[in-house]
Amino acid sequence: MSILAPFLVLIAVAGFAAYHRWRLAVWAALTATALVACWLLGASPAATLVAAFLAALVAVPLLIPQIRLPLITAPLLKFYTRILPPLSETERVALEAGTVGFEGELFSGRPDWNVLLDQPMPVLSADEQAFLDGPVEELCRMTHDWDITHVRADLPPDMWEFIKKNKFFGMIVPKEYGGLGFSALGNHKVIEKLSSISSVVSSTVGVPNSLGPAELLMHYGTQEQKDHYLPRLADGREVPCFALTGPWAGSDATSIPDFGIVCKGEWNGANVLGVKLTFDKRYITLAPVATLIGMAFRMYDPDGLIGDTRDIGISLALLPRDTPGIEIGRRHFPLNSPFQNGPLNGREVFIPLSQLIGGEAYAGKGWQMLVECLSIGRSITLPSTASGGARMGALVTGAYARIRKQFGLSIGRFEGVEEALARIGGKAYTITALAEASAAAVARGELPAVPSTISKYHCTEMGRELIQDAMDIHGGKGIILGPKNYLGRSWQASPISITVEGANIMTRSLMIFGQGAILCHPWVLKEMKATALPDPDERLREFDRNLFGHIGFAISNAVRSLWFGLTAARVGSAPGDAYTRRYYRKLNRYSAVLALCADTSMLLLGGKLKFKESLSGRLGDVLSQLYITSAMLKRYEDQGRPAADQPLLAWAFHDAVHKIEVALSGALRNFPVRPVGWMLWALVFPLGRRAQPPSDRLGHKVASLLMSPNEARDRLGVGAFLTPAANNPAGRINSYLQKVILAEPVERKFLKALKTRDIESLAFPAQLDEGVREGWITAAERAQLEELREMTVDAISVDDFESEELRSAGYRPQREQDRAAA
Ligand SMILES: Cc1cc2nc3c(=O)[nH]c(=O)nc-3n(C[C@H](O)[C@H](O)[C@H](O)COP(=O)(O)OP(=O)(O)OC[C@H]3O[C@@H](n4cnc5c(N)ncnc54)[C@H](O)[C@@H]3O)c2cc1C
Repeated sequence: MSILAPFLVLIAVAGFAAYHRWRLAVWAALTATALVACWLLGASPAATLVAAFLAALVAVPLLIPQIRLPLITAPLLKFYTRILPPLSETERVALEAGTVGFEGELFSGRPDWNVLLDQPMPVLSADEQAFLDGPVEELCRMTHDWDITHVRADLPPDMWEFIKKNKFFGMIVPKEYGGLGFSALGNHKVIEKLSSISSVVSSTVGVPNSLGPAELLMHYGTQEQKDHYLPRLADGREVPCFALTGPWAGSDATSIPDFGIVCKGEWNGANVLGVKLTFDKRYITLAPVATLIGMAFRMYDPDGLIGDTRDIGISLALLPRDTPGIEIGRRHFPLNSPFQNGPLNGREVFIPLSQLIGGEAYAGKGWQMLVECLSIGRSITLPSTASGGARMGALVTGAYARIRKQFGLSIGRFEGVEEALARIGGKAYTITALAEASAAAVARGELPAVPSTISKYHCTEMGRELIQDAMDIHGGKGIILGPKNYLGRSWQASPISITVEGANIMTRSLMIFGQGAILCHPWVLKEMKATALPDPDERLREFDRNLFGHIGFAISNAVRSLWFGLTAARVGSAPGDAYTRRYYRKLNRYSAVLALCADTSMLLLGGKLKFKESLSGRLGDVLSQLYITSAMLKRYEDQGRPAADQPLLAWAFHDAVHKIEVALSGALRNFPVRPVGWMLWALVFPLGRRAQPPSDRLGHKVASLLMSPNEARDRLGVGAFLTPAANNPAGRINSYLQKVILAEPVERKFLKALKTRDIESLAFPAQLDEGVREGWITAAERAQLEELREMTVDAISVDDFESEELRSAGYRPQREQDRAAA
């Protein structure tokens, strides 16, 4: 034992120092002290000497700069420069365009939870709340989704008028320019509520308040452009669209072939310097009705009219609709969700340089402008749309599962349906927290590049899963389209959200981790910047500082991963209450694991990592789930730790942690360098993979919570359009829940009587008459049963049509069309 003791002390001190991230000098001093103490207490002098020698072997070269810089740092700098992922211009712009908020802590391996918990709780201003209770509520009441999606394939004129008059298109435009000047949270809540009744209405309102002319003008417009266009955009005199995508450039938007040649031309009767544009765009939302087109194109100056650069780069311009040469007005038909969307073409369309957004000074800076603004809109429009749909979907499906009875029971009581209901409740809880978190980040003034991709991807993916479960629970009621169907259109539209604003497969596999690993990592970006310093001495010193910070960080994460793995993350300081403290501890564990795996992957694969999309996607999943669970915990704290929400929080948390372990297990089992994968597995899962999906017992609690009125359920519905109006069948069904439950004992009594008594009547009204006559139900109970029947009929009934009603008004048989085309 006296021989082993010094080595055990050496390992323990090193592990302790690494866990707590002590500086190297502190570790060396502590090790020396511990070894001396060991020797004084009787450990073998020879063994103590060997242990001291080993410690000195590490400490001396690392602590003495004259040895470290030339012998260690300089060769590593060379190696690093060789493996450094070569950054394309597009990637460089993307990396510089975002800010880093709490997500940076998640990459630190030791999150400072105070950074999250000290963030102010997001609250709406009085104006925003009044707008939600006034014009938004009214717009929801005007919305007949079937009329919009089937009868007209458009919003009716009075809704367009109402939207413009009430400045729905100007939510993000500052008040000084005549807009509403809403915060990101206000914008989020409006879209959320509108989407709970119609995704066509919410996208019509959402797009002008997302990436487009208004946002770009606010950031880069010249004063003249702002003064002219912003008031017109705010009050709907101008309807904007933004055209980037074309047949040849979808996800890879920087490859747009649309071009503009600098030349002289006619504009308002004068001969001015401008650009002649040729473009072929498609999928452009609002294009068919737009009056002001934001256009992305590549600008060339072959004759050197404005400088020496021939290929100026991607530039953005504003084109009035009536500019000669523009072809506009035809429509695409996106999955029966007929918001205005269509192609847009132009040949030799001349505009003066003053129509470039930001004027000539911003020529060629279009990509940077887009990327800088993208994270704002992407944090709000699609996450909020998913959030509104999730709130409504959870409430109405819970109510429906209670009202709809088969085999003598509410269908929600069957375990199979309960499973799907639990998924709906847990995902609604998650989506709503995530959407609010990304909107709140924008409201705090961040440009949340990484959270916006996480929020966009996961809200839309979970939204699609949620609506699918809701459809299954509704059976035929979800399938038969018509005014009574409140799900079918959302289900049809769900792939649209998946595809727009960064298609999801690419968002997951390339962007979340790709940006996160560099932007949020505490050392990588600093190291990259250090390698680019022009002065060799400064480069070496700066690289040295960051490199050794990074090495210490990596060792610490390995130790923390192993320790948390061995202890099942039951130890360590963490915030929260008795219920959530264990959750924070688990997140501490996975944060260290993420940092460890990310570092190892970057070290081994360097620039090749971005082509290893399966690995990058899985590590992105871990980062995403860490962010998502943090958003849920933050909201739980903000709402005063409501005990009633705990089943929802627990289901969502266990689901997320299970997903983390599935992603990690996939990443490590398929790790490109197999032995390293095994080594990482030993550090990450020393006792095996243990996280389980939410239990059936928890699922039962969540499903029950959705099927009866309670405060957690009410909170889940806050922000959806629940008014039980004639145009809102989902709101109506939800409003029946309380009465349906009150009537259940009477219903049971009635059904029992039907089984046990000798009742002659077959029709329901006659049975009620007989029941009252013979005294086995009272008159009051009869009224209650009649009301229950009415509510149930409203909930379960579906539409039917004359054939003509289903035919499109512009219908022309395909054969005729083919003949005309021939
Ligand atoms: C209804 C609708 C509205 C839209 N509105 C607008 C608008 O207003 N303005 C505008 O400019 N654009 C708009 N778009 C365009 C939208 O942003 C693009 O559709 C989107 O960028 C994807 O391009 P794509 O459809 O050509 O798909 P593609 O780029 O062909 O992608 C096909 C698939 O390949 C995947 N993929 C591509 N590259 C990679 C990669 N490197 N790694 C992994 N996977 C990859 C994608 O994720 C996707 O799943 C709209 C699209 C739709 C459908």
